[in-house]
Amino acid sequence: MSKTGLIVGCGVFGLSAAVELAKQHAFDKIIAIDAETVPSSLSAANDLNKIIRPEYADIKYMKLAIEAMDSWRSKAPVSSTYHECGRLSINSKDPNRCQFDAVSQANLRKLLGETALVDLNTPDEIRQKFPAFLSNAPLNEDTSAVFNEHAGYASASDALVWMESEAKKFGVEFRYGKCGSFKRFVFPNTNSGSTASVAVEIEDGSIIQADTILLAIGAYMNAYIHTDRRVIAKGLPVAHMQLTEAEYNHYRNMPIIFDPDMAYIFPPDPKTKLLKFSSAGYEYVYNTRTRYDESIITSLPTTPSQYTEIPGYAKESIYRFLRMYLPELADRPLEKCKICWISDTSDSEFLVDKLPGTENVFIANGDSGHAFKFLPNIGKYIAQKIHGTLSTEWQEAWKWKNMDNHTTEVKWRGSQSLVDLKDVSFTPNN
Ligand SMILES: Cc1cc2nc3c(=O)[nH]c(=O)nc-3n(C[C@H](O)[C@H](O)[C@H](O)COP(=O)(O)OP(=O)(O)OC[C@H]3O[C@@H](n4cnc5c(N)ncnc54)[C@H](O)[C@@H]3O)c2cc1C
Repeated sequence: MSKTGLIVGCGVFGLSAAVELAKQHAFDKIIAIDAETVPSSLSAANDLNKIIRPEYADIKYMKLAIEAMDSWRSKAPVSSTYHECGRLSINSKDPNRCQFDAVSQANLRKLLGETALVDLNTPDEIRQKFPAFLSNAPLNEDTSAVFNEHAGYASASDALVWMESEAKKFGVEFRYGKCGSFKRFVFPNTNSGSTASVAVEIEDGSIIQADTILLAIGAYMNAYIHTDRRVIAKGLPVAHMQLTEAEYNHYRNMPIIFDPDMAYIFPPDPKTKLLKFSSAGYEYVYNTRTRYDESIITSLPTTPSQYTEIPGYAKESIYRFLRMYLPELADRPLEKCKICWISDTSDSEFLVDKLPGTENVFIANGDSGHAFKFLPNIGKYIAQKIHGTLSTEWQEAWKWKNMDNHTTEVKWRGSQSLVDLKDVSFTPNN
């Protein structure tokens, strides 16, 4: 009997799983659907660039990241989007972040050797390491940093498009727009003559039946499924600055500069000559009622057109960053601002499990703002979950947890100020 696999959501988890399952010939037919064409403006990964780095305090994620980085460096199609520019990580003043960095760096040195990282203990050592970019940087007297030359960034939306074409090469059928927008599950599937036990209803009114379904809709999860705080949609501010051709040539070989207390910046994008910034420490919610149950209030992503500015505090942290590291750009306007939505878990573990009460519906969610780097390999582990071969270690980490006794809070993303976007002031450039 012919078997169909349906993947709902073509972001990082969905596309990675689509490629892996298609390569394995796990189903006779794989259909992948999304509300928009790849790269969807709703995807957290629809962006100029994302950091690819191995540093994790949790050794299992570090090993997973090192495995992914082997692919970023050497395996088509994603390798064409990867740039190993190195990452300068400024040492934080936040004790939680310090702890995360200290453990991550010790782990990395244990796994890859003492020379994996370079300590830059004073402002002068930092300036001397990057004289072309940081010689004018005022830096605080107590600023120190660690440089990892074996890290970099991927051109994020390009990488999604490459993964989509790889999936097509292996026979995945894509459906986008109204005919690819998930509306709800149909339980049980009573369609006569069908062997498939579950189906989904699509916004255009059609029904897609499948033997196995993977729901990978990122921050939109709570719009359809009551996860009861297991995942929370959080918005992160992103901004850009337009460079001239001459400025692009000046900055193109700079490293990623990551200051967890302020913001981080990537080398300029070769196509658009835009510098991209994300402010660190500012995450937002947007609490609203769900469509499926008016009594449930939860954070849901805003649309890209709803906020074309970022909150004043986030902007100010980017300008503080510029005054500290690249003062020559500190009076320039920020543009193409947006709020980009992740699906956050309280312990920063992903959520890859069966949807409770079902046998053949799986979720890959809870990216917690750090899943992009796993685009080349997370699909392998999602496929293992579907086949029932995922290791106990990952099953424990990624399971649908009992929230009554689940209190773990991981603070490695630094102290977060978490406010509702509706209560935030949007000021012009600071
Ligand atoms: C500002 C920012 C910076 C980040 N930086 C990094 C970084 O440097 N390194 C890193 O590793 N990670 C980073 N991330 C995290 C990374 O982008 C996410 O972890 C990753 O994109 C999550 O993948 P996903 O597949 O769960 O969701 P997404 O990539 O968001 O994809 C979800 C998909 O579901 C689709 N969808 C939604 N609703 C429906 C529906 N009803 N029907 C059909 N389809 C639907 C959307 O269109 C979208 O394509 C960052 C995230 C943000 C926001």
